[in-house]
Amino acid sequence: MNDLEFRQQVLDQLSPSFCAAKWYNATIWLGSGQTTSCHHPPAHQIDREELKINPSALHNTAQKKDDRKKMLAGERPAGCEYCWKIEDMGRDAISDRVYKTKIYPIEAINEAFNQPPELDTNLKTLEISFDRTCQFACSYCNPAFSSTWVNDIRKNGSYTGLVSDGRNHFTHSHDSAQLYKFGQNNPYVDAFFAWWESDLHKTLQELRITGGEPLMSGYTWQLIEWFKQNQGKSSTKLAINSNLGFDQAKLNVFIEAIRPLPHVEIYTSMEAIGAAAEYIRDGLDYKQWMQNVHTLLDSNTVKAVHVMCTINALCLETLPDLLDELLNLKQIYGRDRVTFTLNILRFPSFQSALVMSDDLRTRYKNILSEWLDKSQHNAFYHEYEINHTQRLIDYLDVVQTPHSEAFETPKLLNDFKQFYQQYDQRRGKDFVTTFPNLKEWYESIQV
Ligand code: SF4
Repeated sequence: MNDLEFRQQVLDQLSPSFCAAKWYNATIWLGSGQTTSCHHPPAHQIDREELKINPSALHNTAQKKDDRKKMLAGERPAGCEYCWKIEDMGRDAISDRVYKTKIYPIEAINEAFNQPPELDTNLKTLEISFDRTCQFACSYCNPAFSSTWVNDIRKNGSYTGLVSDGRNHFTHSHDSAQLYKFGQNNPYVDAFFAWWESDLHKTLQELRITGGEPLMSGYTWQLIEWFKQNQGKSSTKLAINSNLGFDQAKLNVFIEAIRPLPHVEIYTSMEAIGAAAEYIRDGLDYKQWMQNVHTLLDSNTVKAVHVMCTINALCLETLPDLLDELLNLKQIYGRDRVTFTLNILRFPSFQSALVMSDDLRTRYKNILSEWLDKSQHNAFYHEYEINHTQRLIDYLDVVQTPHSEAFETPKLLNDFKQFYQQYDQRRGKDFVTTFPNLKEWYESIQV
C-alpha cells in the first residue's frame, strides 16, 4: 500500500485527523520538563507532581489526552498545524501524519483508536533530550537547544532589530530550557529512568536520543552502558541524533562503545554542502562530517545513517548536490543504510524558504524539479524520499504556496537581513561571499 492509499484507506477511515503519534510517539525534553507528540506541535509542560506517582505522565499529559479526544472526533488539534498545512496544499500531499502512523502495526493503530483517550498509553517510539549541551550553534537553532548559542547571547547580547514572531528565539539565553545541570537531581530524568526500568525498555521499539548534541551528555553514555550491561533484556532499537562534529579519536570511542549493541542507528542533520553547509550549521566541518559518515558505516556498528535536511532559505542552492552525494553513499553502502528526509523549516519563519522572492523560489523549484526528473526512477531512492522532494517542490511553487500573510513579508525580510548581518559579525562569516546567487536579492532588502 503506498502512502496515499494508506492515508485514504486506513487513516481517513478512522478519522480525517487521526494520527497514532499522539498515542505512541513523544519527544520529551528532560532538561526543561516539556513534551510534544512529534517535533512539530509546540512543546508543553509536564506535571512534575504527577510524576511522583506515575512516571508515564512524562508522555500522558492532559494536553495530549485532549488532543487525542479531538482526533477521535475528526477535529484538528491546533498544535498539529504543520500537517494540516501540508494536507491543505491539495494534490494529495502526504503529511507526516501518514509517515508517523504507518510505522505501527495495524492492530496497534486500531487499539489506539478504540481505547478511551484519557487512558495512559505506553510509548512505542520516543525521542528524548537530556540537555542542551552542543558544540554547534546553527542559524535555525537557538539557545533553548544549544549551549554554544547560549554563549553567543551571553557574550554578545540579544540579536537586535528583529520584529517578526521568531525574534524571541534570539533575545535571551532560554535558561528555562536547562533547569538542572548533569549530576543535579532532575525529577524528569529520574522519572525517565524509573519508567525505563519498569516498562519502557519492554515496550519501546525505538529510543532516539536528541540534544543538544547527545554524545556530549553523560546520560547518553549512561544509557549506552545500560544496553551493554543488559544485553538481551530489551529489544529497543537505539537511535542517536548526532551532528557528527567530532574528531576521529572521539568517534572511535563511540564506535567501540556501541560495538556490542545489536541495533544502533544515527540520525544527522545536513541540508547543503561545503561552505553553505558550514555557514548554516555554525561549528560544522563539512569534510569531517562526510568522513565520519563513511567511518561509521564502514565500522558496521550502525545499521543506518539517516540524514535529516532542514529546508531553509539558504540550503536550496546546494541541496541537489547533497542529494547526489547521498546517492553516492547509497551506492557504496546500500539503499537502506543511507536515507534522507526533507523537513520544511517553519520557525524561525524569517529563515523559511518562503521569505525569498518569487524569482528565487521559482529558480529553486526548477532546479529541484530537474533533480527529481533525473532521480525519481532510481531504485536507490525510497518512495518517501521521492515524495518528500515532490512536496518541497510544491511548497516552493509560488502559485500553490503564496507568501503566508502579505503584511508579514516586510517583517520577515527585515529579520532575515538583520539576523544574518549580526550572525556574520558574531560568527566571522560572510553571507554574500557564501551565497553569491542570493547577493542581489539580499542586498536589495532595506532595513
Ligand atoms: S504534527 Fe502531524 S505528525 Fe505530528 S502529531 Fe500532529 S498530526 Fe501527528
